Amino acid sequence: MTFQELGLSEDILKAIGELGFEKPMPIQEKVIPILLEKNVDITGLAQTGTGKTAAFGLPIIQQVDARVNKTQVLILSPTRELCMQIAKDLTNYSKYVSGLRVLAVYGGAHIVGQINELKRGVQIIVATPGRLMDLMRRKVAKLNNVFRVVLDEADEMLNMGFLDDINEILADVPKERNTLLFSATMPKEIQAIARKYMVDPIEIVAGTRNAGAENVKHLLYTVHAKDKYYALKRLADFYPMIYGIVFCRTRRETQEIADKLIQDGYNADSLHGDLSQAQRDYVMQKFRIRNIRLLVATDVAARGLDVNDLTHVIHYSLPDDKQVYTHRSGRTGRIGKSGISIAITHLREKFGVSQIEKQIGIKFIKSTVPTGREICEKQLFNMIDKMENVKIDHSQIDTYLPVIYKKLEWLDKEELIKRFVSLEFNRFLNYYRDADKLSEPTEERGRGRRDRDRGEKGRDSRSRQRDNDGRAEQGYTRIFINLGKMDGLVPNGLIEMINKNVEGPKIPVGRIDLMKKFSFFEVKSDLAKKLIKALNRDTHFRGSRVAVELAQGKDTQEKKAFTKRVDGARKKRKRRF
Ligand code: ADP
Ligand code: MG
Repeated sequence: MTFQELGLSEDILKAIGELGFEKPMPIQEKVIPILLEKNVDITGLAQTGTGKTAAFGLPIIQQVDARVNKTQVLILSPTRELCMQIAKDLTNYSKYVSGLRVLAVYGGAHIVGQINELKRGVQIIVATPGRLMDLMRRKVAKLNNVFRVVLDEADEMLNMGFLDDINEILADVPKERNTLLFSATMPKEIQAIARKYMVDPIEIVAGTRNAGAENVKHLLYTVHAKDKYYALKRLADFYPMIYGIVFCRTRRETQEIADKLIQDGYNADSLHGDLSQAQRDYVMQKFRIRNIRLLVATDVAARGLDVNDLTHVIHYSLPDDKQVYTHRSGRTGRIGKSGISIAITHLREKFGVSQIEKQIGIKFIKSTVPTGREICEKQLFNMIDKMENVKIDHSQIDTYLPVIYKKLEWLDKEELIKRFVSLEFNRFLNYYRDADKLSEPTEERGRGRRDRDRGEKGRDSRSRQRDNDGRAEQGYTRIFINLGKMDGLVPNGLIEMINKNVEGPKIPVGRIDLMKKFSFFEVKSDLAKKLIKALNRDTHFRGSRVAVELAQGKDTQEKKAFTKRVDGARKKRKRRF
């Protein structure tokens, strides 16, 4: 089946051809001909990334009368991101339809601009319910000529508490309209909306499972509840090329896990409802361009993100609603690629696991968290692969080579390889040197707990200590500070202190490594000098005088001396008070 055969007009075919749409996706194949032919209501059950926007959007564009300057179609969507995305898609699809105007209206943005746009006239409004209600009350959004309403991601709108708004909005749209409702899940409340507002809807299911779900492997790791984070970390290390979302249940959990990952040096960040719109936009953008490799998110926040080509989806908490599991894991294993969906669970979640298996018809592969050795091996080979495939820029490097060859003359090939590998690789070797398996949880509670407690956490700080000579991230400078955990320093406290004492705009602080008696942290390189000067001027933290300096080039010996000096000062202080 081609788009042409579905009955779409030339100007639309041309636009989607340019977008690289070759063949309709299953839901498009089903929905488009129906909508072009009949005035019917449709409920569509489909996961993210199945091509819903074009399924309802293309027929809408074809049927809207661009010569009439009145709102004819209303699309409701739960979040600002989704509104903008849909509006952008529709604008692209209608590139060759002259006179057609699509407008996204959503909260959190100036209403005046939206009002002006509406006054100019738009045929298609894409809106979040709250903002639309506002604009309706102000009599700038007029819905009396609307012939089609789309409720996109209906379950999510419900989750966000938009039910009353939706009811009120629909009451203001002419009865003769038809309604399309799309949702990834069909809870009772949605069925109720369908019954109330729709007439004999045609039900369309675009595979309860995602297209490409066959490519997804479902792995199950069962660990002690307290070990979940360590399991996550190991898995992240085990897949060096990971690009994934870690799904958590609550905002708090999301923030906590993200903070820990960042502290441990991963390219991670969090996405949840407590963040401001600007913060969310920023995080999403960084994730899209893969600056962030692990995005820790709640289900609701992740909905707005149109990234589906993930290598991994990690369920740090299993969802209550089993359909959500499908929804989450549908973001990996796309179009011919294989994907991995990982559930990290503890014993008490056993029931949830079997429910998921039953209800969505998958079988988890029970797996054990990789051992330190396995992780090191994986990282090592990844690095060697990268080295083999690296592009050599002769124009840049050739001038240096003679000197380097000369300098390394005395090393034979084997020795050279050993050193080069160690250079990159010591971090992992150190961290996992004496790490063994995370203790396997058994049905008897409590067993094996003691091993664990003196296990990985102790190693954590040791390895960081060894890692202190490590260089800072690009663009950042590593700073040494004479305060540590013993002084009551915690990451937030450090950041607060910095921003209280250094004038000007907020200072971005990168990685923070807290030791017992001293610490390291990274700041944007161009701010390092200013920060050192300001903090050394006369800053106190809980009664201790703060001293900072560049960490660079300080070898361990020097650091020890510095600590001794500081310790001396500390003792003196004690005596004095
Ligand atoms: P959904 O709303 O179901 O989550 P989207 O409509 O956002 O999915 O589509 C997901 C992605 O697939 C988008 O990037 C879209 O441009 C792309 N897409 C949609 N239809 C096609 C098609 N027929 N061929 C290729 N890509 C498509
Ligand atoms: Mg969509």
